[in-house]
Amino acid sequence: MIYFDSAATSMPSDTASKAFAFAAEKYANPSSVHSGGIEASKLLTTARDKIAATLGAKPSEIYFVPSGTFANNAAIIGASRAKARKGRHIILSDSEHPSVHNAALQLQKEGFELSFVQTKGGAIDKDELVSLIRDDTVLVSIMLANNETGALYDIPSLSKAVKAKSKDIIFHCDAVQGYLKTPFSVNSLGVDLLSVSAHKVHAFKGSGALFIRSGIRVEPIIYGGGQESGICSGTESVPLIYSFAECADEQYGNLKSNIEKIKTLYEYAEEKLEAAGVKVNTPAASTYCVLSATLPDIKSEVMLNHLSSFGIYISAGSACSSHAKSNRILTAYGLTPRQSECTIRISFSEYNTKDEVDILANAISSGISSLAKMRK
Ligand code: PLP
Repeated sequence: MIYFDSAATSMPSDTASKAFAFAAEKYANPSSVHSGGIEASKLLTTARDKIAATLGAKPSEIYFVPSGTFANNAAIIGASRAKARKGRHIILSDSEHPSVHNAALQLQKEGFELSFVQTKGGAIDKDELVSLIRDDTVLVSIMLANNETGALYDIPSLSKAVKAKSKDIIFHCDAVQGYLKTPFSVNSLGVDLLSVSAHKVHAFKGSGALFIRSGIRVEPIIYGGGQESGICSGTESVPLIYSFAECADEQYGNLKSNIEKIKTLYEYAEEKLEAAGVKVNTPAASTYCVLSATLPDIKSEVMLNHLSSFGIYISAGSACSSHAKSNRILTAYGLTPRQSECTIRISFSEYNTKDEVDILANAISSGISSLAKMRK
């Protein structure tokens, strides 16, 4: 298998697997007061400290959740409901992941009004964002890196502009595709709420974290035993959380070298793919982890099947929106519906090699020639 779909989900690292196996043996409920429970709870404490360190946050500001989707829902719905008496207006970008976009649509049903700032060409205009702010704006949500185009948005300057207009507006950032792929801390971004997910950083599906800055109020969106200070009731999965933290800690240590490796792979792939007749869409400001490319009038599914027959895995657009009728994000980026239909997403991790890029580029090139001939 040649795997170029790490933005959909990443291969678990050895560190994650070993940490999972270790923590799985400490199977007592971390809320139990006996020594088994205390032992499990200590692993949660270690994990919270480590995730906090990767984000430059305090451990008390980290809440473990089951996914990036949960973190986004908890942040957007929970923080907006907590502020509802102050105002009911939310701003988000027009390229947010469905877990942000649809959470905001849910709030709309509850009487909130939404405004969307454009992401055309992969950048957000600070002045346009500020012009959308109203007296009743309570929350702004803008992702760090886009899962389909790879665009890296300038969160430090956007959050600064929002806070300059009103420091009471809560700034949420979905950092699922930027976490451990580009250097940042919650303070360098200037955000109040931030979401990350384990399975995008070589740990397992079923874990994630929400950063909530001290002093920011978030109402729970689910109710139960009050675990994670009430933000995510339900017995914590110690093995998933612990393995996430051990893996993230390692990735954090390797961040600089991983970024360099991925950038080299990206640039190599970009050159090869352009030579094969593919148009690269990803803007210059990107994480280099996602390469969005439009094929010369060949539908992405056709190319995906062609590559899959060689054991090469990529995505069309993003895995999460593969069921959507039209591609909201690529349209917002500025692609026509036909270009969107012909757009593929190649996503890298530090586990990929140049040889794999060669194989991918050759297979895309042969696919373009043979699929074009078939149309004649
Ligand atoms: N946000 C972004 C930008 C994503 O790419 C994804 C997953 O693709 C999510 C949120 C959701 O994360 P999870 O799969 O952990 O629910």
